[in-house]
Amino acid sequence: MRGALGGPRLLLRRLREVMAEPVNAQARLDRIVIHIAANMVAEVCSVYVARSDGKLELYATEGLNREAVHLTTMTTGEGLVGLIAEKAEPLALADAQAHPAFSYRPETGEEIYQSFLGVPILRGGNTLGVLVVQNRARRTYSEEEVEALQTTAMLLAEMIASGELQSLAQPGQSFSLQKPMALRGSPLSEGVGLGHVVLHEPRIVVKQLVAEDPAAELRRLEQSIQAMREQIDQLVARGDRYGMGEHRDVLETVRMFANDRGWLRRLREALESGLTAEAAVERVQNDARAKLQRQTDPYLRERLHDLDDLANRLLRQLTGQGTAHGGVLPANAILVARNMGPAALLEYDRANLRGLVLEDGGPTSHVAIIARALGVPAIGEVPNVTDLVETGDAIIVDGGSGEVQLRPPADVEAAYGEKARLRARRQEQYHKLRDVPTVTRDGVEIGLHMNAGLLIDCQHASEVGAKSIGLFRTELQFMVAPSFPRLSEQYNLYRKVIDAAEGRMVTFRTLDIGSDKVLPYMAKMEEENPALGWRAIRIGLDRPGLLRMQLRAILRAGAGREMRVMFPMVANTTEFLQARAVAERELEFLRRHGYELPTDLKLGVMVEVPSLLWQLDEICAAADFLSVGSNDLTQYLFAADRDNKRVSARYDTLAPANLRALRSIVEAGDRYGKPVNLCGEMGGRPLEAIALAVIGYRGLSMTPSAIGPVKAALRAVDLGATRDFLLPLIENPGDRLSLRQELQAFVEPRCVPL
Ligand code: PEP
Ligand code: MG
Repeated sequence: MRGALGGPRLLLRRLREVMAEPVNAQARLDRIVIHIAANMVAEVCSVYVARSDGKLELYATEGLNREAVHLTTMTTGEGLVGLIAEKAEPLALADAQAHPAFSYRPETGEEIYQSFLGVPILRGGNTLGVLVVQNRARRTYSEEEVEALQTTAMLLAEMIASGELQSLAQPGQSFSLQKPMALRGSPLSEGVGLGHVVLHEPRIVVKQLVAEDPAAELRRLEQSIQAMREQIDQLVARGDRYGMGEHRDVLETVRMFANDRGWLRRLREALESGLTAEAAVERVQNDARAKLQRQTDPYLRERLHDLDDLANRLLRQLTGQGTAHGGVLPANAILVARNMGPAALLEYDRANLRGLVLEDGGPTSHVAIIARALGVPAIGEVPNVTDLVETGDAIIVDGGSGEVQLRPPADVEAAYGEKARLRARRQEQYHKLRDVPTVTRDGVEIGLHMNAGLLIDCQHASEVGAKSIGLFRTELQFMVAPSFPRLSEQYNLYRKVIDAAEGRMVTFRTLDIGSDKVLPYMAKMEEENPALGWRAIRIGLDRPGLLRMQLRAILRAGAGREMRVMFPMVANTTEFLQARAVAERELEFLRRHGYELPTDLKLGVMVEVPSLLWQLDEICAAADFLSVGSNDLTQYLFAADRDNKRVSARYDTLAPANLRALRSIVEAGDRYGKPVNLCGEMGGRPLEAIALAVIGYRGLSMTPSAIGPVKAALRAVDLGATRDFLLPLIENPGDRLSLRQELQAFVEPRCVPL
């Protein structure tokens, strides 16, 4: 390397010796800058550390005025040092003072230095500080020198992250790494959780940065790349079968990166600067992260995930460290992950789990459904969160508002602690209502039922005082299983669910798969519009073997009891009649083979496809009961994807059009003497529940935690008076898009808290 004495390897070795010396942090840092300056034949070497207040503080210098140490600070974006921190990119200048960002600090005496080379001190793509060398004479720094300084900066990153420099911080100051942050995402599961970060995929710790034998490191790197490529090829060759969260598109992209010449070249360059193979991978990945994280283009940001995936695979190959997820958790654990499948979440020990934060994961993702079932506060779509946290960081999850408080200051922590206590107190009040019936002030009784999908849900039925399990989503068992559950496995689950319901009725819904509910072991259909595609009862009727097996398992599990089964996504009465015929044939089969039968079987229909609104007479005549799936019905009525944030707020469940549609269903049920329940999310919100009671619904099925608040609201309302107010508005809404505000304004003063 031109200009450097002994090259980067010698420097790294020297620095490693300095790291091992028994001296205090300041002395160590002072020696480090002396070695760097000497090795790079520079007159100046300085280290700036990023503080939690956003400033960069001079922590050590060789060549500048020593008095300036711990006194000189720059704001991010100010001066050359601030610019490097902001952009997270190296900057090499032959004439620093000619640069528009140059800012003169008299206390440092730096005006006599012409050339400047600075690199960010990066960790996980975050800037922890800036490392600078300067020369009096004008000179151009070579690429190798830039490379060498970046490598050296990795050592400093470790020093900062290890907390060794903590003792040097000014009173009241801390490092950017420890700065409190308020993040925001999408609420997935209600509740407030306070605890400490546990990474679902712990960062792989590179312990050995400096290579002993560079040639051997190159061999190790090449062997690992080869092994990783073979592993990816095998996974891709498995065709449409997914491994643990391994998606084919992602694998294809990762494979492309793994063969990318630029990436391989950067790895070799990093190796040449004296790093071990694993440290080289980390270096290259740090740079890529720093660049991609600052991109606003979602496509490019998505590529960062692919690159991360690649780097992690390679690091696992090189270090032998695995992904240690699942199992035991420390007390008050808050899990943080990029993404997580429902099965992975279930593997953790629930007793210590206080919350979940994901970078991906929308409100209707399966992991969100599981988090709700477990009663774990959860937030999804929190950008970059895995990079911003360190294992053990204090963290607060507010699953109601979607707020994450990372490393919260004491006052924030106290406020959330209070919120959690208040919530617990409110829960206690709801608990007191558990055994009282849900009767409005004017004496109308509304049945409150609960939705479930896992065996663990069923225990909530008695805790919250649900009348029955109004919707059992059978697909969850299929979604978390490694392969298609056999008849006996299905039977066992249904039997246990019925037992766990302790005498309450369970309404089983047959498999509602397809669209977003994919089974990992089933060939994935490429469909333009999966929500309008081959799903639910459509699959059941086209593959009657599956439907028959499930119905047989359900009917056998219900031996000697009253049973209710319903079919999802029915668009035509004939589909219901066909499904009914399959169920009756199964009943006949069981009878012929001498099985004990259910004492009574009621077969119902989910009303969630708008075409049924114009077949209400026929469907009411054919079905024993109706259950409105308002989540789907509303998305189809308004042609707005329920999971697409851009459009889901465009319509309101309390829109007059929606209320009219819902009213027509319950009125048809009344005409035919067929019970009508509603089991979409809407029924679990107090104001919506009041509106539904007004238009005639007498049965609502909801997530268990919603029963308390809905019961409290319904018991406080005078239904007759609210009906007199609301019905004319539904009939003559004028140009109102939603009746929410008016209903709220009417109900609130008359009703205890909503
Ligand atoms: C619905 O669509 O409202 C419903 C209850 O079913 P799911 O949310 O499972 O589609
Ligand atoms: Mg539905």
